[in-house]
Amino acid sequence: MLPTIHILLTLPFCFILYHYFHVSLLNNLIVFFSAWLFDVDHYIWFVVRKRSLSLKKCYHYHHPWPSRERDLLHFCHTIEFYIILLILSLFIKEFIYVFIGAAYHMLWDIVRKSYLVYYKKKTFLKGVRAGSTIMWIKRHYSPSKSTKLKTL
Ligand SMILES: [Zn+2]
Repeated sequence: MLPTIHILLTLPFCFILYHYFHVSLLNNLIVFFSAWLFDVDHYIWFVVRKRSLSLKKCYHYHHPWPSRERDLLHFCHTIEFYIILLILSLFIKEFIYVFIGAAYHMLWDIVRKSYLVYYKKKTFLKGVRAGSTIMWIKRHYSPSKSTKLKTL
């Protein structure tokens, strides 16, 4: 989903947090930025994968979603990232607001993907993005796979 859409969806959420839950302005800013900045992992993936710093090429690589590849590792969209945020929030209180923003971001990503898969019948979207960094590493760097590579 485009960052502008995430920003537009996050503004009313931050208003509700501020107005009804009395979340401070600073913590609201943390929620606001973490609700859309974590899409930076798309750019990081593109830079590593395509060895290019071009934002324009990155945009065209990811849009229209999905890219031509499957099993993309957008590490800020994996379960481990959220677990790390929760663990950090035990020690640094502000990380709970990072977690809230990131979870809100992920919620809308899931809503959009579910809409496209189940309503628009774009079933090819299943498996485009890895849900777990550990499982992705296991799929791409398992010992059996490296053994196969040695024999080729
Ligand atoms: Zn996202």
